[in-house]
Amino acid sequence: MRAELEAKLSCCRDLPSPPGVALRILALARDPDVVMATAADTIGLDPALTARMLRIANSPLYASRRRVENLSQALTLLGLNATLTLALGFSLASGMRSRQHGDEHGEERVWRRSIITALASRLLGEQTGQRRLEELMLAGLLQDIGVLGLLQLDRKGYAPLLAACSDNATLLLREREHFGCDHAEVGHWMARHWNLPPLLQEAIGTSESPQPGSPFEACVAVSGHLADLWLLEDTEAARLRAIEAGHRLLGLSPETVDGVIEKMSGMLPEVATLFEVRITQPRRIAALLQEARELLVLRNLREIQDAARARKDADEFEHRAQRLAEEARRDPLTGVYNRSQLESVLEKEFETSSRHGWPLSIAFVDLDDFKKINDGWGHLVGDQVLRSFASTLQKHLRSSDIVARYGGEEFLIVLPGTDERSALGVMRRILSEVGQEPMTRVDGRALHVTFSAGLATHGALEQFTHVDQLLQAADEALYGAKREGRNRVVAGLVEN
Ligand code: GH3
Ligand code: MG
Ligand code: MG
Repeated sequence: MRAELEAKLSCCRDLPSPPGVALRILALARDPDVVMATAADTIGLDPALTARMLRIANSPLYASRRRVENLSQALTLLGLNATLTLALGFSLASGMRSRQHGDEHGEERVWRRSIITALASRLLGEQTGQRRLEELMLAGLLQDIGVLGLLQLDRKGYAPLLAACSDNATLLLREREHFGCDHAEVGHWMARHWNLPPLLQEAIGTSESPQPGSPFEACVAVSGHLADLWLLEDTEAARLRAIEAGHRLLGLSPETVDGVIEKMSGMLPEVATLFEVRITQPRRIAALLQEARELLVLRNLREIQDAARARKDADEFEHRAQRLAEEARRDPLTGVYNRSQLESVLEKEFETSSRHGWPLSIAFVDLDDFKKINDGWGHLVGDQVLRSFASTLQKHLRSSDIVARYGGEEFLIVLPGTDERSALGVMRRILSEVGQEPMTRVDGRALHVTFSAGLATHGALEQFTHVDQLLQAADEALYGAKREGRNRVVAGLVEN
């Protein structure tokens, strides 16, 4: 602040100053040995102040189930520190109000703003989890004492300037042009001069700063933007600036700032009465909050829809990927496993069987005289026979068994956990089923096929060291079945 202005302020006899009761309260606040009774005695001397203390103790700010009837109850409810801070606020406010010239339009506006910022600072503090809520309220209340100081110092120069500026930002600019400093700096000087607690001095000094130092100071700085909703014509723009400041200085979400505005709307009438100030609630605020709520509902709805859509897309993608992977494992003509899939499945089964000593049987199956079907009825009929044959095999096997097309009209059946005797039983049953079921109809006539199968078992009777040896044994058994006349099942080891 310019030294010249500081000198003027020091000499100004008319500067607002704390009334006697406020000075006594300030002294109490500095005294570490003060007890509740002393505070009660000091406040009790001022009946108007006592009435206000009862009123605030019963207000929604301190919603208590029990009605507070007297000063000592109020002090118990509020606690010593809160009591002294609130009493200081009330006494300073009434001391300065009484000096007012009544018709000064500008001063009335300053007071309205102070009451609103007092409530806003407190609610912001509550929202950001701060402990010193009464001090916040007091800091909010006193943040514009500099305006009163400047009025006192240079009423002729400052009053028209104050009346001409409808918003705080313009007022600050004009003050800096006119005095070389703004009302926050003057307020800081006054707070120091009055010997207010340092916390308050700093908060008043940084109330208009773009970069307040602590969350406490940030609450006071943001409170001014919230007050603008009640003071300026363009409520909508004021709300957006409050949201911006709340986010920048306190990290609050727009919804939280709206919540504070909503609480302020509910509590302001009561707080205004406490300080004997008339504050009219702009109707636009309720409408704006309603709009914000509706937007929020819409946005949440859209987020839910987006999330659902994303999940559906992911599910579909997953399904498609699974389907493609499954298709890659299947033989396109018959739908049973193809040879490459067979190899990996068979290797796993062989490994499991070796590790646990469980039996594993496999059967090479080859259709008998299939060439004749192709030659006699054509390839399409041959294809149809292959399809029917594959599904007949699957129909007569358990789901844990595996059917694969090895190539041409040759299939491989894998029977995990099945010893040779059981495998032989299974394959013979299938042989007889296939013999009875027509594979297709040509010109109204049923077409039957037979097959030959060679069986090999990895198990108690014979241990193979590699899966290829097991395949080789089954292939040899198949060759034996063909040689013996077809339409039969031959096991590699045991004569049947
Ligand atoms: P065998 O009893 O000795 O097994 O006689 P076969 O006629 O069944 O045996 P061969 O190996 O001589 O003939 C198999 C035939 O299967 C030859 C081939 O054209 C036919 N074939 C192989 N793959 C397909 C196919 O995908 N579709 C059709 N329609 N025919 C196929
Ligand atoms: Mg054949
Ligand atoms: Mg063949």
